[in-house]
Amino acid sequence: MEVRDTFYVGGAWTPGAGAGVREVLDANTEEVFAKIPEATTDDVERAIDAAVEAFGPWSATRAEERAGILSRISKGLAARREEIATTISHEVGTPLALSRTIQAGLASGVFADAAARIGEVAWEEELGSSLVVREPVGVVGAITPWDHPLQQISLDVAAALAVGCTVVVKPSEIAPLSAYVLAEILDESGVPPGVFNMVVGPGPIVGEAIAAHPRVDMVAFTGSTRTGRRVMELASRTPTRVALRLGGKSASVLLQDADLDAAVAATVRSCFLFSGQTAWGLTRMIVPRAKLPQVEERAVEAAGAYAVGSSLDESTTLGPLSCPGQLQRVRGCIRAGIDQGAKLLIGGPEAPDGLERGYFVRPTVFSEVTSDMIIAREEIFGPVLAILPYDTEEEAVRIANDSDYGLAGALWTADPACAQRVARLLRTGVVAVNGVRPDPSAPFGGCKASGFGRQGGRLGLEELLCAKTIGRSGAGWPPAG
Ligand code: NAD
Repeated sequence: MEVRDTFYVGGAWTPGAGAGVREVLDANTEEVFAKIPEATTDDVERAIDAAVEAFGPWSATRAEERAGILSRISKGLAARREEIATTISHEVGTPLALSRTIQAGLASGVFADAAARIGEVAWEEELGSSLVVREPVGVVGAITPWDHPLQQISLDVAAALAVGCTVVVKPSEIAPLSAYVLAEILDESGVPPGVFNMVVGPGPIVGEAIAAHPRVDMVAFTGSTRTGRRVMELASRTPTRVALRLGGKSASVLLQDADLDAAVAATVRSCFLFSGQTAWGLTRMIVPRAKLPQVEERAVEAAGAYAVGSSLDESTTLGPLSCPGQLQRVRGCIRAGIDQGAKLLIGGPEAPDGLERGYFVRPTVFSEVTSDMIIAREEIFGPVLAILPYDTEEEAVRIANDSDYGLAGALWTADPACAQRVARLLRTGVVAVNGVRPDPSAPFGGCKASGFGRQGGRLGLEELLCAKTIGRSGAGWPPAG
């Protein structure tokens, strides 16, 4: 069993002030496979002290120096890919192959990308008689979720370090172990003491202490919409800048001329990725009513092809959910779908055959879903797809937008001009067209209850900057006399 008993603060592995210990469960077996310490507010205070102290010298480093460190971190993560992938497969149930490419692989890519983008940031700009310089915002408090545990931390840490901010990270207590590996790699990569600090512990104590802290200059929160509201409320008291990356209920809109084979296969893949535990998953498929039978047939075939089992088995394509709370919630939503009259095509709330232990759920598809049903409205965060029929293109857009959320989305049509026109009508932060995913240099983020703030590329880095206007020439102010 892996046992961690320290936090990373001020460049050193430091025991916490309290005696609390948390058990980390294996999603496949429900057994304890690691133990971590629980931080107290005193630990948070020490981490913030370290980040405040390190900010001056770090923000004054040259961009090339920071880029070099980020590149080393990226390589360090790549070298430990297998270990990271296996750990995350235990923690959250991602099938090993996906854990290698997405969970571990993307995290390494995030640091490499941040290193490459530093040079693209518009650090200075002349506006009339003024010079506008962009400066790092200061100490970033990053509070992150468990679904992509390392990638989410990496997005915040890479951006912060790239622009010269220092950071205090609080990983999710459900999946904290890859953050320890990251801290080890940062330590070996030449990150000066205090620039990166990590404390783990319960959200209502450690997360709230970070969100409410007057010396945190920006709270970067990724997680549920419910917690995001609380974080924003706490941060407003100081007040502190906030970025919120929250839940989603994204729509895949199949227009009349869509390629059904491609559209249904890609939508099912997106919805069931990580057993449905991704914020941007396409969980609502909006289809022409006349094509419903063909769509249903393809969706059932695709869902039925998943191999459900242990995430550590190389042949598994659908692993367990991450934790008992998730299992209860997802099964409850499936029952609500049945109770509210949606047509269950495949799956259901029972445990998959032979998988009574572990947090396993059957890949589930509902059809004839309407926008008022729980399975159409709530972020289920499980392998549950809702198919909603429409009659006109206008109705398709209305259904897609009839959601509290606005994170991602997809459009399928043979007509490129129509795709561009309809994409602009969707109230969401990202729209993929015919399966073409957005460029990694483009920003990612949502609107409405999916939050605000963008990550990735140059625009993602610029979220952590403040503009300072410096007078250079011209008339004095206030005017004399
Ligand atoms: P969560 O809101 O339960 O927890 C997220 C983080 O907040 C954890 O570190 C948790 O300990 C902490 N936290 C909990 N209560 C807190 C409080 N009162 N104050 C401060 N911090 C607190 O979310 P989760 O279940 O870990 O993650 C899943 C959610 O994250 C989903 O809704 C998913 O859509 C969302 N998510 C969004 C994005 C995005 O880019 N928009 C990306 C990944 C995940």
